[in-house]
Amino acid sequence: MRQLKKKLGNNLSRVQEAIASACSRSGRKGGEVTLVAVTKSVGLEVIRALIELGHVELGENRAQALVKRAAMLEELSQRAKQATLGGQDRLEALPEVRWHMVGHLQRNKVGMVLNCSGVIHSVDSLRLAEDIDIKAGKRNMTVEVLMEVNCSGESSKYGIIPAAVNHLAEQLATMTHLRLVGLMTMGPLAENPEDSRSAFVRLREILEDMHVGRYVDKTCQHLSMGTTQDYTVAIEEGATMVRVGRALFEGL
Ligand SMILES: *Cc1c(COP(=O)(O)O)cnc(C)c1O
Repeated sequence: MRQLKKKLGNNLSRVQEAIASACSRSGRKGGEVTLVAVTKSVGLEVIRALIELGHVELGENRAQALVKRAAMLEELSQRAKQATLGGQDRLEALPEVRWHMVGHLQRNKVGMVLNCSGVIHSVDSLRLAEDIDIKAGKRNMTVEVLMEVNCSGESSKYGIIPAAVNHLAEQLATMTHLRLVGLMTMGPLAENPEDSRSAFVRLREILEDMHVGRYVDKTCQHLSMGTTQDYTVAIEEGATMVRVGRALFEGL
C-alpha cells in the first residue's frame, strides 16, 4: 500500500507539474484547470490511494462502473466512520468525491448515474438531455452537464456535429433541472499530441461563437478536452478540465 501510494503520488505530481507548465506557457493560471482522474483501468485500492492523496475529481466512462465504484467508496467511508466512532482510528475517513461521467451515456442509465450526482460530460442528443432533465427533476436536483461535440469528424466518435450545437444549446436552456456548463470533445486517435490541436481549437471557437450569439450565458465556460495523449496541448488551447487516466496509473 505504501509503495503504491508513493508511485501514485509521483505520477500525480508529474501530471500536475505538466499542467502547471502548460498553463504558464500559455499565460493561464494553474487553478483554472481541473484534473479529472479517469479511473476505468484501476481497482478500488488505487482509487482509494488517490483520494487519500487528496485527489477527489474522479471520472468513469461507463455508467455501471461509475455507480459500482461510487457505492464501494461510500461503503468504505461508512466503515471508516464507524471504526472512528468505535475508538479505532486505523481507517482514514475519506473526503467527498466528485464523480464525472465522461463516456457515452445510455438513456436507461441516467437514473443510476444521477444517484451518484456529479457532472455529466457527454450529453450528445436532445433525447438524452430530456431524460436527464426529467429524472433530475424527480430527484429535486440540478445537474451540471457538458455537451459532447465531435470536432474531429471521425464517424466512430460520439458527440454532436458542430453545426447542431447552437440549436441543442437553445433547447437545453429551456430545461430547469440541468445546467449547461461547457463543451467536451475527444481528440482524434493519434500518436502525436499535435494532431489533436485543431480539434481543440475548434471546440474553443465553437464555445466563443456560442457566447457571441448568446446561445449560452456566462456560466457556460468549461472546455473538457485532453487525455493522456494530448492534455498539455488541450491546456494550451484553453481546456478547463482534462481527463487523464494512463499517465496517472502507469507503472503501479
Ligand atoms: C479513458 C478516457 C479518458 C482517459 O484516457 P487516458 O488515455 O487513459 O488518459 C478520457 N476521456 C474519456 C471519455 C475516456 O473514456
